[in-house]
Parts: sequence; C-alpha cells; structure tokens
Amino acid sequence: MSKFYSVARMKCPRCHKGNLFVKRNPYSLKGSLDMPDRCPVCGQDFKIEPGFYIGALWTSFPIVIFIMTLLSILLLVYVKMEMNLFFVVITLILFSLQPIIIRLARAIWINIFVNYEDSSGI
Ligand SMILES: [Zn+2]
Repeated sequence: MSKFYSVARMKCPRCHKGNLFVKRNPYSLKGSLDMPDRCPVCGQDFKIEPGFYIGALWTSFPIVIFIMTLLSILLLVYVKMEMNLFFVVITLILFSLQPIIIRLARAIWINIFVNYEDSSGI
C-alpha cells in the first residue's frame, strides 16, 4: 500500500514527501523526466547507480502491454474499429501517454529497491 502511494503520487519511496521528478507536469516540454540526484527531504539517492533507470524498461513493458490489452478490447470488441484505423489510434494514444508511462515505470522501478522508512523515530 505504501509503495502504491509513492508510485501514484510520484513521491520518494523512502520518506513519501520529496518529489521524484523536478517538474510536476509530465507534459512540460523541457525536463519532463528530470529527477533530482537526491530526495530533497530525506536525502535518498534517486540515481542509485549509473544507468539505473535503464532497468525501468522492464517495468514500462508490462504497463504498455496492459494499456494495449485494455484498448484492444475497448476499440476492437466494443467500438468494432477497423484494423488499420485501430493501429493508427493505438500508436497515437501510446505515443501521447509516453511521458506518463516512463514516469510510472521509473517510480515502480525505484520502489522495488527502496523501502519506506518512517522518519518519525529519527
Ligand atoms: Zn525522501
């Protein structure tokens, strides 16, 4: 549950207070994927090792599959969209969702390695 909170709110996995990304808006043209080196609140290292977020490809892949499955059911079964149009639409939707998918994938990825620590005892 606490990891779900961190991912949903894009917060530091350790303290749940600092923001994972510099910009709150995933669609800001510049620096949409910029992350601070460390959590501004608890100092958790956000760039655990060089190329750490290359591993986030492994979490973005299931997200993309999940979205594609939902869209396929919706557009092909319910809307009965024509195949050619379906591929155009699904490409456009996935492309426009890219900033959100990458952020989600990174937030899930760092949550796999960093656990929540209650800072009230410090
Ligand atoms: Zn933190």
